[in-house]
Amino acid sequence: MKPTALFADARCREHLAGLAHPERPERFDAVMEGLQTAGLLEHLTRLEPRQATIDELLLCHTREYLLTAQHDINAGYASLTTGDTDITRNSWDVALLAAGGVLNAVDAVLTGGARNAFCAVRPPGHHATPKRGMGFCIVNNIAIAARYAQRKHGLERVLIVDWDVHHGNGTQDIFYSDPSVFFFSTHQWPLYPGTGRADETGVGPGKGCTMNFPFPAGSGRKEILGAIEGSLVSAMARFRPDLVMISAGFDSRIDDLLGQFTLTDRDFVDLTSAVMAIAEEYAHSRVVSVLEGGYNLNGLASAAAAHVGRLARAESAELSAQNAPA
Ligand SMILES: [Zn+2]
Repeated sequence: MKPTALFADARCREHLAGLAHPERPERFDAVMEGLQTAGLLEHLTRLEPRQATIDELLLCHTREYLLTAQHDINAGYASLTTGDTDITRNSWDVALLAAGGVLNAVDAVLTGGARNAFCAVRPPGHHATPKRGMGFCIVNNIAIAARYAQRKHGLERVLIVDWDVHHGNGTQDIFYSDPSVFFFSTHQWPLYPGTGRADETGVGPGKGCTMNFPFPAGSGRKEILGAIEGSLVSAMARFRPDLVMISAGFDSRIDDLLGQFTLTDRDFVDLTSAVMAIAEEYAHSRVVSVLEGGYNLNGLASAAAAHVGRLARAESAELSAQNAPA
């Protein structure tokens, strides 16, 4: 197996197909074209698809919510009755495929010989709470995978870094009282969903294991890389994660349709490097990165390629020279 794995299944295009929606199937194509143009695809091991099981979804969601979501989708509703999440006929199958792909990425990194992995999935997941879909999210792909890494592979501590321009409220909710999963988020504020104040730091045994950095529109490299280098790195010296996961939203890139941050492709390389350094220090370099947002198709393509290019350069200096984005 090559050191970097990729989960990307074209059936992820089937969710919301034909709708005028920012979270559209062409996002999948954009990511794949970005990886192709950067010459990365031949350097990545493609992971097999599988659907997450109900038991796996239950690691993070209530049975009542899962039954509701499945019902709403099968009944042909335009959106989930739990909130603001648009759906189409294939959305349940695609959601299970997205979550299952991230689980296969965890397997690949923990026992399959991959060092790190990127999952080009949709729908995204980080707004989905235990009890409801929110935003463009049905099930919380990264949270389910973090729990799965603990339950199936026996890991103790997982770090989730969320650099999407929106706060990952669902991921925060799921782990808010849990000291075994550290949630770190940088996000634009005020902005949907309105959570993620700096004083939201966890509760009970999870106190101190949630870290939020809300920044105003126009923020970028200085603020976001600064939060990682200035706060996350020292927190990880205490937490010592066994696995590092990234909610890789590229709507924090400059010129996004839904966000007003100013990160460049070069900044995403450096953010990736900073997170990889934490993984190298504590987690045997294990990183599983999961696509969240990113709504400017050209920006999504180039930022995803910059990110995955950096992941793949962990062991390939030659690739580094060829594909270092400007
Ligand atoms: Zn977002």
